[in-house]
Amino acid sequence: MKDIVLIHRNVRMLDNPALFHGSKNQDYGIIYLFDKNYWEANGKSEIQFNFLLDCLEDFDRKLKEKNSQLFVFSGNYLDFQKWIETDFSESTIHVNHCTDVGYFRDGFSNFRDYFLKQKKIKIYSDFGIQVKAPNRDKWASDWEDQMSKPLLKEPYANQKIKKIDGPLKTLSHFLKDLKLLRNKYSSFQEGGSDEAYSLLDTFLKHRCAGYSFKMSSPHEAEHSCSRLSPHIAFGCISIREIYQKLLKELEITSYKKDLNSFKKRLYWHCHFIQKLETEPELEFKSMHPMADELRQDINNELIEKWIIGETGFPFLDACIQYLRKGGWINFRMRAMIMSFASYNLWQPWQKTSPLLAELFVDYEPGIHISQVQMQSGVTGINLPRIYSVLKQSKDQDPKADWIKTQIPKISNVCSDKIHNAELNDLYFDKLVDPVLSAKKARETIWASRSNIEFKKIAREVYLKHGSRKRQSLRF
Ligand SMILES: Cc1cc2nc3c(=O)[nH]c(=O)nc-3n(C[C@H](O)[C@H](O)[C@H](O)COP(=O)(O)OP(=O)(O)OC[C@H]3O[C@@H](n4cnc5c(N)ncnc54)[C@H](O)[C@@H]3O)c2cc1C
Repeated sequence: MKDIVLIHRNVRMLDNPALFHGSKNQDYGIIYLFDKNYWEANGKSEIQFNFLLDCLEDFDRKLKEKNSQLFVFSGNYLDFQKWIETDFSESTIHVNHCTDVGYFRDGFSNFRDYFLKQKKIKIYSDFGIQVKAPNRDKWASDWEDQMSKPLLKEPYANQKIKKIDGPLKTLSHFLKDLKLLRNKYSSFQEGGSDEAYSLLDTFLKHRCAGYSFKMSSPHEAEHSCSRLSPHIAFGCISIREIYQKLLKELEITSYKKDLNSFKKRLYWHCHFIQKLETEPELEFKSMHPMADELRQDINNELIEKWIIGETGFPFLDACIQYLRKGGWINFRMRAMIMSFASYNLWQPWQKTSPLLAELFVDYEPGIHISQVQMQSGVTGINLPRIYSVLKQSKDQDPKADWIKTQIPKISNVCSDKIHNAELNDLYFDKLVDPVLSAKKARETIWASRSNIEFKKIAREVYLKHGSRKRQSLRF
């Protein structure tokens, strides 16, 4: 076997650089590395793994049409390295770059460096990320260049069907032991490229009508947002393909405002991932180092009630219940959930972030960690925004109908009482006074930002991570 294509997240046929280039000699094997410990790392969960299994199944079916198939190697990168050295020391490894959590980065970078020395690994760009020499001043134009390149074709067919044994399993063999897991998550989004194309198509053609305002309500966003996030995270479709189809649609659509709003978000996707790529320590440390001194006391009881949706605030709890049932919720509600934990409960984001990430099918560490930090007021370069759970309740679900579908035991209570969280014995006690806790948080955050040293460091943070698209600097 001349080439090994290593799959981590880009589970697609079209516009997949590692797969395309690795298939050129028509003598290649495609391997997914299953490392059980990776799925227990910071924010990773069974929910995401289950989505990936859908993607792998779909991918394997398509590969079979190319005289190829997917194999699974169980172990970590070191085990994998040793196996390649023993059995395939002449092969070239092809893999797409991925910005991921520390557990992955540590294992992969040793593996990469080992084969780089021997010139036996090729690493390809994915997304619009600057991997070598990140430079924020050139970032937007680099992103445009990357997105406007022609899409890579599907892989060349293998000349012969590969029969590889040893530690490798075929996908169907690997999946046999996981049947139970599959049934457990049947109410969650389904993975695979077919599903991704269908979502993109229906979104561009009609679901996007009113996207720019419907995206704020958890109820309306379910159908009016693209719902592409897990497909982008696992690479069932390339962001470049989405972008190019979007540009074509923008020429003819009647929903220009909505689709332009979507276009901005494709850019944000990579903009946020770039932050973690540039500074991997952000997984554990606040972007502005002085912000880590703010929240020192951990209250596990409060955190537990928050993440299971028993805060005493019906709208917030409804959002968490909804998220737990389907693995997704819209942007505004994610921001509100996080803001409540960081401002009202005053808990350190490092403790709450992984618990929330585990609930998202679309967990993308670069976006999640950057957003968590923004919603906790620890970046130093974004204005702190504290969401009021009472106001959001009234604004997003005026009649409280959606809340009642999520929490049936309060379905006979009037909407005012629900919005104001005045349910006495009918519901959980409120964890905090929402107004007083927000006031205290606001004062503490602003006091820390007025410090001269804080401002100096904030300027350095901006130079490293700030978007140059914004005109005014906010320190
Ligand atoms: C605390 C918090 C955590 C988040 N964690 C994640 C995460 O782990 N993975 C994730 O993909 N998104 C995350 N987001 C961003 C956003 O909420 C989701 O991308 C969006 O809700 C996904 O639904 P959609 O695909 O229908 O989005 P659409 O509105 O249809 O947007 C299309 C795509 O643009 C990108 N995008 C949209 N909004 C943002 C944003 N604000 N920042 C960066 N990229 C964006 C996503 O790739 C998304 O799929 C988080 C937001 C917050 C506030």
